[in-house]
Amino acid sequence: MTNSKLAKKKKTRKELRQSELWSKYRFICCCKRCSSLPFTYVDQSLQEISVSCRDLSGLRSDYKLFRDMADRRLTDSIEDVISEYLSVGDSASCCEKLEKILIQGLDEQLEINEGKSHSKFTLHPLHHLSLNSYTTLTSAYKVRASDLLSDDSKTDLNQTEAFDMSRTSSAYSLLLAGAAHHLFAFESSLIASVANFWIGAGESLLTLTTNSGWSRFVNSDTKFECSKCSLVNRFRACILNGQIKSEDFEIVTNEFIHCVSDITHEIWGFLVYGCNFLKSCKDPVNFSWLMSTKNSEDVAAHDIENDKCYTHESGNSIGVRDEQAYNDHTLAYIFQLGGHCLTYGGLLACICYGPNFHLVSHVQNILDHENDSLFSHNV
Ligand SMILES: [Zn+2]
Ligand SMILES: [Zn+2]
Repeated sequence: MTNSKLAKKKKTRKELRQSELWSKYRFICCCKRCSSLPFTYVDQSLQEISVSCRDLSGLRSDYKLFRDMADRRLTDSIEDVISEYLSVGDSASCCEKLEKILIQGLDEQLEINEGKSHSKFTLHPLHHLSLNSYTTLTSAYKVRASDLLSDDSKTDLNQTEAFDMSRTSSAYSLLLAGAAHHLFAFESSLIASVANFWIGAGESLLTLTTNSGWSRFVNSDTKFECSKCSLVNRFRACILNGQIKSEDFEIVTNEFIHCVSDITHEIWGFLVYGCNFLKSCKDPVNFSWLMSTKNSEDVAAHDIENDKCYTHESGNSIGVRDEQAYNDHTLAYIFQLGGHCLTYGGLLACICYGPNFHLVSHVQNILDHENDSLFSHNV
């Protein structure tokens, strides 16, 4: 292909992408990411939906139409549940409805070739609606836990159930941070969100370790410093210098993911206990279990082939263990995991907003007072 032909082809793609941005979002942007067609891996994942239907030929012929419809139906359903939760405040019903959509997708009767055909729409685990759902579920489970604890009739049963709710909330916050981090590796502009998600996951996990039932396991060697990585030192250096070299950032990110993967491996099965959707997420940090194809030119064909779509069957999660098997090691792992997430989030916030940003000082305070009041298990 000659250069001019190539340029022309690129230009048409760019125009196509921009007209789509305009029609969907009333938004035009000329940066590299917004001009890219096919979408970048990140934008493709954020929008990926699986549409399956018995009438494959009908589906193929009108694929764009069905995809748009699936997109609208899923958006409406998730947004309805979230706005109902925000207005009525029924957190239990919100959790149930969102998880049902995440696991089962939506069933629809599609009109294809003058007949009706059964079809199913499912969200990709990295779809932006899935990420929104994880955020809402993190908060809804947390609310359920504190409702149970504030109940006048404080029973042991309430305490146990409140612990289960806090644990599920922490698992969702970890999944959200891990999912956003996975996308951040391809798209650095997500840094601010990822910083917030890691800090949120870190705090949630550390709070979980303050659960009263665990106080008897506490010993004094719960420290944030990790012998296997330089994260805490790099964070402190970043605060002092106001910056970090990009090669150092790459090193510390690899170390962080390594440590977090190792620890998660030990306790993911414990954290997801009792939640079917979370159990279907095999690993919240490494997303190789997703059958998503990177930079696929032919998104439509990929989506149609049922056997290549992601599924939500349970089993084969990492670290599957009996819930009762938790002990002081579990507590130590959760503490270490929380410390890593918090510190890495603090490092990202420091890179993003500078060392004087309030979230950075907040993280620094928790690290400085590791043996004092905040997470001292003295409840
Ligand atoms: Zn742009
Ligand atoms: Zn480490």
